[in-house]
Amino acid sequence: AKRIVIKIGTSSLILANGKINLKNIDELAFMLSSLQHEGYEIILVTSGAIGVGLNVLGLDKRPSEMAQQQALAAIGQVELMSLYKHTFARYQQKISQLLLTNDVIEFPESRKNASDALNATLSLGIIPIINENDAVSVDEMDHKTKFGDNDRLGAIVTTLSDADLLIMLSDIDGLYDKNPTIFDDASLIETVSEITDHLMKAAGGAGSRFGTGGMTSKLEAAKLIFDANKQMVLTNGARIWEIRDILEAKKKGTYFG
Ligand code: ADP
Repeated sequence: AKRIVIKIGTSSLILANGKINLKNIDELAFMLSSLQHEGYEIILVTSGAIGVGLNVLGLDKRPSEMAQQQALAAIGQVELMSLYKHTFARYQQKISQLLLTNDVIEFPESRKNASDALNATLSLGIIPIINENDAVSVDEMDHKTKFGDNDRLGAIVTTLSDADLLIMLSDIDGLYDKNPTIFDDASLIETVSEITDHLMKAAGGAGSRFGTGGMTSKLEAAKLIFDANKQMVLTNGARIWEIRDILEAKKKGTYFG
């Protein structure tokens, strides 16, 4: 079976007003469940625990204190998984949860444990949902605010699970030759076969409102993907249905590979 990793970021899960983007989560659950039922093996890498935690407590901005963020992640993770569980159940799809840390591949034993758990879960027909263990990996959380909201974890999970493709969902249609939120004349780059310094510069600058990694962290993830001889597509998480177009090789977003 074709094995696909989907990475979804906070900006696709939480609306600008702080409410949960239920429509998008429902579309995601429908799409991934359908694909699983058709024979794909699907792994979901999700962010959003802190965003959902803020929503649970009715707060509107991320606290600066690290321990507060850890608490929010711990609170939000439960709610996020509960949301996924109920939404996937609507489409007769069971899920599991795996909380990893970014260094999981650096230790052969933890790498093997994680990949064994993934393989066993997938062979049971279940969609594993993976997030970083933010409540305990404080360094990672710090790292994340600088380098990107699970983008790296998405690439790591792709290599770890020996998946065929990473679909990275962002708040933008793909990689542009310059930041399209600043420059009107930016144009979409359809294919990237190498991460050059020139590209890294084009992707520079901050990301979206939740203090995520921006485009730079996606290119860093793409580097890991290239190193592992895998493929990645960067596309817009506001149009979940396009995942099917991507799998049917109808071009959408930016292709890396
Ligand atoms: P998400 O949280 O949805 O993954 P990020 O905010 O981390 O999204 O990254 C996407 C953002 O990166 C875009 O909304 C845009 O503001 C910014 N960006 C900077 N340079 C570029 C570029 N060259 N092409 C596309 N987006 C860029």
